[in-house]
Parts: sequence; C-alpha cells; structure tokens
Amino acid sequence: MKALEERIRQEGQILSDTVLKVDSFLNHQVDTALALEIGKEFARLFGSAPITKVLTIEASGIQFAMATAIALGVPFIYAKKKKAITLNEQVYFAEVHSFTRQETYQVSISQKYLDASDHVLIVDDFLATGAALVGLTDIVKEAGAELAGVGCVIEKSFQEGRGLLEQRGIAVRSLARIASMAPGEVHFIEEADAVIPPVKENVGC
Ligand code: 5GP
Repeated sequence: MKALEERIRQEGQILSDTVLKVDSFLNHQVDTALALEIGKEFARLFGSAPITKVLTIEASGIQFAMATAIALGVPFIYAKKKKAITLNEQVYFAEVHSFTRQETYQVSISQKYLDASDHVLIVDDFLATGAALVGLTDIVKEAGAELAGVGCVIEKSFQEGRGLLEQRGIAVRSLARIASMAPGEVHFIEEADAVIPPVKENVGC
C-alpha cells in the first residue's frame, strides 16, 4: 500500500535496526482516514472468504480490526491482555511473549463470541516475531473456527513471524513489508497483493 509506505518513510522513527516507531499516525495518535483505507484494503484482500468475525489483540490492533470489520460488515473481537473481573464466563487462553515489552502474558477471549461456525480474519498492526499472531491462531484453532488468513499493517520481513505463520499453512497479507531498516532509511519488499481466493487450501492453522 503506497500511501502507507510513504507515511512510514516520512514519519516513521527507526529506533534500532529492529524497532520502528509509528505512533504519530498508526498506534498512538491514529490517522483515522488512513485506518479506514487499511480496513478497506484488508476487506479487498480477504473479502472473498465468508468471514464472520475479525479478530485482533489489544491495544494497537483494535483500530485496524474495527476498520476492517466495518468494511466487511461483521463484528470484531479483541483478545484481552488482562483478565477483567467482568470476564466471568468460559474463555479461550493463549500465552504470548511480547517482542517490544520483553514479557510473557496471557490473552483471552470469551468463548461466547467465537465458535466452530465462525470464519475468522486476524488483523494486527505489526508482524515481528509472530508470537502475538500465533497465539491468536491457536485460539481460533481451539474454538474450531476456520481461519481465512492474517492481515498485518506493517511486516518486518527480516523477523521470523511470516515464516512461522506460513509454516502453519496460513495465508498472510501485509500492507507494508520492510526488508531492512536503519536510522534514516527503510527498504520495502513489493507485496504480491493477490486477493485470497475462496478455496480451502488457504484456510487453516
Ligand atoms: P510479534 O508478536 O509479531 O513479535 O509482535 C507483537 C506486537 O509487538 C505487535 O502487534 C506490535 O504491537 C508490537 N511490535 C512488534 N514490533 C514492533 C515495532 O517495530 N514497532 C512497534 N511500534 N511495535 C512493534
């Protein structure tokens, strides 16, 4: 997505050769027009699958899951990082190790909102080590739901996340794929922006 790559070039702060800060437009202050465009693009890429729910993890996936869910006309669910006292029903759990925070935490989703009748599209802001997204795919599997694929706003392709997901047979689409970065420069990979076909081979985890 060219507009996204342009914003990353203009406003992204490369804090090291592995950490990119995009909090002026993506995950702290949010450019809502761009978020809505991102949602439409995920809907275009995955919309031929019969998606019933968009799934993400709090906090910075929420705006993109919501934009995608609006474009698809379905609800979205965000996995919670802390168990709320109001979450008193049966939940699905997954363990996730955070790349940016260097800590392990549990994410949970109420079993009321995800079951074997669902076709799920997972959306998140970043794909780095893949830990967060693998955790969500484990939950989809545990629920017995179908996984249409994973959409990431920014993929750091030099980290192992895409490989981990693809090894599990999961279709991954990222709107900006970073091949490498260093302070003052960022190199993108052209994403094959093929629409995910509505066939079973691309489904699963
Ligand atoms: P992963 O599980 O793929 O390693 O990444 C999990 C989460 O870490 C992402 O959803 C994102 O919130 C955060 N993250 C990973 N890499 C970066 C980065 O370079 N910059 C920012 N701002 N967040 C990142």
